[in-house]
Amino acid sequence: MDFTLSSDQQILKRAVREFAEAEIRPHVLEWDEAQHFPHEIVPKLAALGLMGIEFPEEYGGAGMAAVDYCICIEELARVCPAVALSVAAHNGLCAAHIAAVGTPEQKRTYLTPLARGDWIGAWALTESTSGSDALSMRTTATFDGSHWVLNGSKVFCTHGTVGHVVVVMAVTDRTKSSKGVSAFIVPRGTPGLEAGKKENKLGMRASDTSEVRLVDCRVPPSQLLGAEGQGFVDTMAVLDRGRIGIAALSVGLAQGAHEAALTYARQRVAFGKSIASYQGIQWKLADAATEIEAARLLTYRAACAKDAGEPLTLVASMAKLYASETAVRVAEAGVQIHGGYGFVKDYPAEKFYRDVKLLTIGEGTSEIQRLIIARQLTS
Ligand SMILES: Cc1cc2nc3c(=O)[nH]c(=O)nc-3n(C[C@H](O)[C@H](O)[C@H](O)COP(=O)(O)OP(=O)(O)OC[C@H]3O[C@@H](n4cnc5c(N)ncnc54)[C@H](O)[C@@H]3O)c2cc1C
Repeated sequence: MDFTLSSDQQILKRAVREFAEAEIRPHVLEWDEAQHFPHEIVPKLAALGLMGIEFPEEYGGAGMAAVDYCICIEELARVCPAVALSVAAHNGLCAAHIAAVGTPEQKRTYLTPLARGDWIGAWALTESTSGSDALSMRTTATFDGSHWVLNGSKVFCTHGTVGHVVVVMAVTDRTKSSKGVSAFIVPRGTPGLEAGKKENKLGMRASDTSEVRLVDCRVPPSQLLGAEGQGFVDTMAVLDRGRIGIAALSVGLAQGAHEAALTYARQRVAFGKSIASYQGIQWKLADAATEIEAARLLTYRAACAKDAGEPLTLVASMAKLYASETAVRVAEAGVQIHGGYGFVKDYPAEKFYRDVKLLTIGEGTSEIQRLIIARQLTS
């Protein structure tokens, strides 16, 4: 068992950190306030390989391993969780689904521009009446003899307005329950595919989130992704892997919030001494540092399981659950340590506190992670 990062991983970590500090940090608040999706940094993310982190080089990817993926997402989230969310959704949901079950032709046509960062990917599972209970989705795809015709409406789709291609899950046979859902690749510009309302969010505001509507949207059979009826099973596997990304995002956010709290605690004087000298503050900082390290180890453990091709469901859910709830506690402690200054936008604590809440909700809520873990333990 080796707990040290390789020299390549240390170089990667430093490169992504320097990039995030130089290119993202100066704009974090401005993008957040304006709910601006930062198109301008996508080519720079792509130049670092961050738009196709784990995908094979033959499809334009950087060919990195799952721990490397975690390092990249962590370092982005330490500075801007919203950018990290977009990178994680692009890589870990849309592109990952195509990479996992796409045909060689689909990978050439769709994965390659996604992995190169020429395109941004979206992945549409959630509907207004089906989030955790995804199987009760209403969107349908009916074969009309030559094309699949998609009808329905998706919500909370990351990159719903800016994505160049959307992977859409739809019911193809209602009688077959989890074997009656299929996935489709729907490029932007396909008649009948429309972006709906862009959400005005509490946090993660620079990450685009919107409705996606499908009205008699016709796609050829070549855009069925994976086998007909396998869409739900494939989706669960995509989410298992995606949750490692959300765990890494949580670790990075917690790291950023903790560093900000530590810096502030050292500088802030109360009753003639730095507040970092008071045990009440020290214990908060000590608990946070310990929990972040535990979350990081659990996350890397899940990433190693992924690279080793081991079963993922249990470890990925544990990592996502623990890391996201750790991040919520750390971000909350960060605001508390900042006192009144934690409540205003002059310091980063306020934004971490708003951004963090998504992490116990997106890609399966904490309740659903506990349900998955319990099922794995008791089945
Ligand atoms: C910013 C953002 C980005 C997102 N990006 C995407 C995306 O790109 N693609 C996509 O498809 N979706 C996306 N989502 C949707 C997200 O995955 C869902 O919001 C999430 O899965 C929860 O679903 P829901 O909102 O319908 O909540 P519900 O499922 O209605 O849950 C409401 C509450 O009930 C609890 N609950 C539900 N069932 C149970 C149960 N069996 N036991 C105990 N408690 C339960 C939940 O834990 C939660 O607390 C995004 C959401 C947000 C906010």
